[in-house]
Amino acid sequence: MLLIFGLRVFYRAVGQGMFHCQRCGGDREYRHRAGRRWFTLFFIPVIPLNHVGEHVQCTICGTRYRMDVLSLPTTAQMQEALPDGMRAAAIAMLRAGGGSSAAARRRAMDAIKGAGVADYDDVALDADLSAAVMSAPPDLAGPLNRVAIQLAVPAREWFLAEVVRIGLADGMLSDDERHAAREVAAQLGMTPAQARGVISMTEEGASA
Ligand SMILES: [Zn+2]
Repeated sequence: MLLIFGLRVFYRAVGQGMFHCQRCGGDREYRHRAGRRWFTLFFIPVIPLNHVGEHVQCTICGTRYRMDVLSLPTTAQMQEALPDGMRAAAIAMLRAGGGSSAAARRRAMDAIKGAGVADYDDVALDADLSAAVMSAPPDLAGPLNRVAIQLAVPAREWFLAEVVRIGLADGMLSDDERHAAREVAAQLGMTPAQARGVISMTEEGASA
């Protein structure tokens, strides 16, 4: 009797989700697959051997990627990053100014609508403000780091100027508001010197 034996790698799915497939050029479903080498007898796996690594595979085009492809944002996440980031920064600035000035609130709503949340209103603003009070200190790092990945330097400066104008809506920046602006700048990856430049230019523009 002829024995046919060999070694073969079998993969099994250990997870799934959505990711941005570079081959397809869009958000696709993936399978997270882990491989294991088997000793086979008559092409049937009989003895499990070593693990041989894992990968992410696009379910549409079949392309395999290293696991770190999952750290890249999907298109949907990128589209959410700007409104989410502006919302977090505008709320932080409003809080720093006390949150009750009608002019500052209007300015914040305009900034958030301008960043893509078309139906943002007073109710949403109050909800965001009270949520921000609950979670002290506010989480600026997460939403702003995600924005910073996508914004070139001039766009970061525009973003910061928008936030500073919220603080300026009811008069000069207070120390707390200035601190909030610097924190936003730092989380956007700007240097303290860049931040000072944008803040003072925006202040001059507001008083002119
Ligand atoms: Zn694909």
